[in-house]
Amino acid sequence: MAKKKSPPRQPAAGRTITVIPGDGIGPEIADSMMRVVTALDLGLEFEVVQAGLEAYEETGELLPAAVHRSLRRNRIAIKGPTTTPVGTGHKSINVQLRQQYDLYANLRPIRLIPGVPSRYSDLGDRLDMVIFRENTEDLYAGIEHMVVPGVAESLKIITAKASERIAVTAFEFARANGRRKVTVAHKANIMKISDGLFIESTRKVAKRFPEIEYEELIVDNCCMQLVVRPTHFDVVLLQNLYGDIISDLCAGLVGGLGVTPGANIGRKIAIFEAVHGSAPDIAGQGKANPTALILSAALMLRHLKMEEAAVILQKSVADVISAGKSLTLDLGGSAGTEEFTEAVLARVRRRKSSLSRSRSSGGKTAKSAGKANGKTGRKTSTRKTARRATSRG
Ligand code: NAD
Repeated sequence: MAKKKSPPRQPAAGRTITVIPGDGIGPEIADSMMRVVTALDLGLEFEVVQAGLEAYEETGELLPAAVHRSLRRNRIAIKGPTTTPVGTGHKSINVQLRQQYDLYANLRPIRLIPGVPSRYSDLGDRLDMVIFRENTEDLYAGIEHMVVPGVAESLKIITAKASERIAVTAFEFARANGRRKVTVAHKANIMKISDGLFIESTRKVAKRFPEIEYEELIVDNCCMQLVVRPTHFDVVLLQNLYGDIISDLCAGLVGGLGVTPGANIGRKIAIFEAVHGSAPDIAGQGKANPTALILSAALMLRHLKMEEAAVILQKSVADVISAGKSLTLDLGGSAGTEEFTEAVLARVRRRKSSLSRSRSSGGKTAKSAGKANGKTGRKTSTRKTARRATSRG
């Protein structure tokens, strides 16, 4: 039986966050995210370190030692996308970080934001699922070679330990957040041994959570069901490769990659990042939508038990999108990253000051983090909330 996962240590305000801006649109959206989080006055500090192609050009290393030192020191990071060459070149930096720091749970909430154009807009709050993707093994183990010229082999590694660990994480999340069902997608009809071991492990864990419905779907059917009736799904539990593909499919259900956040959680370290890549087609043009990274920061704040600040961030982004005046190109608007960021900053400030006003008019009941204290960088007290980290996105 898998060991019960102990939640990552929850630091208080005053914490330093490692920021890896990354490649392509990464620096633009990271800058936007840092400005918006700074406006919350949480006393969080950012330590910016470079990884990726830009770091390679400067230092000759894709993942310089400074990144590792910063991650080990701070244990919480937020990362922009990094470019990975196709078919040749270096191993993905994301895969390296996930494997090296055992960031075994990749969590990706999928929800409709009112105002984001989507074929499923009419479903509203009913389209609300969370993907849990095993993040350390499967075909991403990167063990592949040419057997003889013209014949290549890639090994799919599945272990009971990693499969049970991600299953426990998904079921514990479902239990803590009032979710009703966990759906596992697999291809055990074909890969009877590897996918067979995965579902054997998830079935074993499911027995420990009798109040949560457990469902298995063959992965191709799961894709079809996701498109035809996305409200059928609640928590979706996947191996690494299926998780990668299905999370992009699900991002498409709610309006695209520009609005879908994510988190890579391990026992000691957590790295938050958007689902999307470095978008080289629009890099450096001021057109990128920073929503996904800002919402990844909201997941990070929730992980840090700063629930109130996370909600302010989410609602501020939602306010701007639903107002429809400062939408980025991918959302059908004409605003650039800067205009969108300014609009979110204005909403954050408005929400913060109305919270302060309600507190000073006797709001004794105000709870948790994010007390407005007027100056960036000043420490704020953080009251612990009962909710688990990284709950509903
Ligand atoms: P991509 O996500 O970078 O881009 C796909 C499409 O979505 C593009 O048209 C792009 O302009 C658009 N898009 C993505 N993010 C956007 C945003 N925030 N705002 C507006 N439009 C956005 O996918 P890709 O082109 O397949 O990959 C590009 C590179 O990114 C590759 O090298 C890939 O390996 C890498 N990648 C990195 C990560 C990561 O670091 N987490 C994830 C996926 C892909």
